[in-house]
Amino acid sequence: VASDFVLECRGLHAGYAGAVVCRDLDITVRPGEVVALIGANGAGKSTTMLTVSGELAPISGEVSVLGSAKRSSLSALARRGLSYVTEERSVIMGLTSAENLRLAGVSADAACEIFPELRALLKRPAGLLSGGEQQMLTLARALCRNPRLLLADELSLGLAPQIVERLLAVVREAADRQNLGVLLVEQHVRQVLEVADRVYVMRRGQVMMEGTAAEIGADLDAVQRAYLAPV
Ligand code: ATP
Repeated sequence: VASDFVLECRGLHAGYAGAVVCRDLDITVRPGEVVALIGANGAGKSTTMLTVSGELAPISGEVSVLGSAKRSSLSALARRGLSYVTEERSVIMGLTSAENLRLAGVSADAACEIFPELRALLKRPAGLLSGGEQQMLTLARALCRNPRLLLADELSLGLAPQIVERLLAVVREAADRQNLGVLLVEQHVRQVLEVADRVYVMRRGQVMMEGTAAEIGADLDAVQRAYLAPV
């Protein structure tokens, strides 16, 4: 039944005008589940995320998001409970943290409950926050809107290991507490295995392997040699 999933891709081919990048993807996410997409650069992870988020039209196959297989724009999906966060800092640099939250209709208190670190930063212009602090703000803002599906594309790109761990831990907590389904793309494979329930390993546009985080973790050296090395 479609409603068992917040995301269901079946036989999905995705790509750009004249360039099929992803082939025959079967990817699912259930409520409360954290699912990781890992793979070398160019494996097609971002293309998959863009397609699921409604930004890119599928070439063929089915994508069902939040119970509907009809293609919708990202803004329409956002109104139905999709949140899409990327490595791009999406905060407005000239506004304070508090103003960034208010602009999104999010209370500063709710955001600080998710990341207490933000309390001391509320009056600071977002442009003066560190990269990690900006991503805390971005993630808090996203989670405060109670999404049912979070798509996170390399949220922690370029950040220090402790921050990566912190962001991932908060994503895990939100999945557990809000029954949020999460699809996340991460380069930090070992850290992501600590929080993910299931993992898809992509290479050259295809899912080569899937399993629980424990299964993939048990075989990590082989997985890295076979699928995660640069193409
Ligand atoms: P990375 O970790 O480097 O972001 P990725 O797994 O997210 O890698 P994608 O960004 O999805 O991979 O890229 C997959 C392939 O799609 C690459 O070969 C890339 O050149 C190609 N590609 C990306 N964007 C476009 C575009 N706008 N038009 C045509 N091809 C593109």
